[in-house]
Amino acid sequence: MKKEKDAVILAHYYVDEEIQKLSDYVGDSFFLAQLATKLENPIIVMAGVNFMGESIKILNPDKKVYLVDPKADCPMARMADIKAIENIRKEYDDIAIVSYINSTAEIKAHCDVCVTSSNAVNIVKKLKEKNIFFLPDKNLGAYIAEFVPEKNIILNDGYCPVHNKISPQQIWEYRKKYKDIYVLAHPECQKSVLDLADYIGSTKGIIEKVNELDSKDFLIVTEEGIKSELKKRYPDKKFHFLEDFTCKDMKMLTVEKLIDCIEKDNNEVFVDEKIAKLAIKPLNMMMKLGE
Ligand code: SF4
Repeated sequence: MKKEKDAVILAHYYVDEEIQKLSDYVGDSFFLAQLATKLENPIIVMAGVNFMGESIKILNPDKKVYLVDPKADCPMARMADIKAIENIRKEYDDIAIVSYINSTAEIKAHCDVCVTSSNAVNIVKKLKEKNIFFLPDKNLGAYIAEFVPEKNIILNDGYCPVHNKISPQQIWEYRKKYKDIYVLAHPECQKSVLDLADYIGSTKGIIEKVNELDSKDFLIVTEEGIKSELKKRYPDKKFHFLEDFTCKDMKMLTVEKLIDCIEKDNNEVFVDEKIAKLAIKPLNMMMKLGE
């Protein structure tokens, strides 16, 4: 049926391993959004959360985009306030509104540029504005701020509930137990956790970094869905994950829902045309500056 319809399945690293296996491409949100614009298939099935389906639809308005389960929704994507954006624009003459790609289409429509965890520092450095309102994630915003002391980064009070709950004590326990363990963490974690990491980077960055290292034991401080990609690429290495490091929204996706989505054309993504026209600007700006 997938072949008949000429559909392509894209999956985020955080979805269930079985879904990753059935997908044509697996990657992080930036990779998948970028890839989607280059594919010829008229139908794209996004195995990920809501904002990912929205971003792909905005970038590919002529294609049919489907979500495996539209109820799977990143809570952080909604932790930003449009009123706050409007107010801050009035307050500063020289400000850029920078949104993490993990945000709703409506929020993107009010921003100047989108970023991902892999290109955020690079893009913020290139902006001419001195004042930056970064949203929704305060942890990623604080991490970026360390690399751009010349900018005034104003943080929004959002966070990823999955990464934000990790405590430094959990990392210490692994450090005590495995003396030579190498700790790789995602910048959506709090600073007190990132301070204990040997490497900080996006999911893609973490996966690629392992390749450069001789260590045998790795503590991966991000969602446990990347385990399958790590095992596939590095079968001789040992990966440890913190208990309960699971995004329940990503795990709402099942193989049955994926099959239904393709067979029954379930869950097509529609984005309000006016919002889509505005939201494509920060996404295109990200593609341009992120190169
Ligand atoms: S892991 Fe966090 S940021 Fe990613 S989709 Fe889940 S809640 Fe959102």
